[in-house]
Amino acid sequence: MVIEIEVSAARCMGSKTCTHAAEGVFVMAGDVARVADPGAAPLDDILAAAEGCPTGAIKVRKDGQQL
Ligand code: SF4
Repeated sequence: MVIEIEVSAARCMGSKTCTHAAEGVFVMAGDVARVADPGAAPLDDILAAAEGCPTGAIKVRKDGQQL
């Protein structure tokens, strides 16, 4: 199982929601989030982070399929 996580820097508005929902997976790099360690939190937390992102900046794929 391969999990790919992508943050659109263009869409991110720096709310930091994802850094709390999936701690260690997302970190802030200035005003935008980036993926630090995809394995730092369970998949459910990563999906919750994606759902909770106010701008839909986070995309999660498993084995190439968007979740
Ligand atoms: S939750 Fe979305 S908008 Fe907020 S920091 Fe994370 S990626 Fe950016």
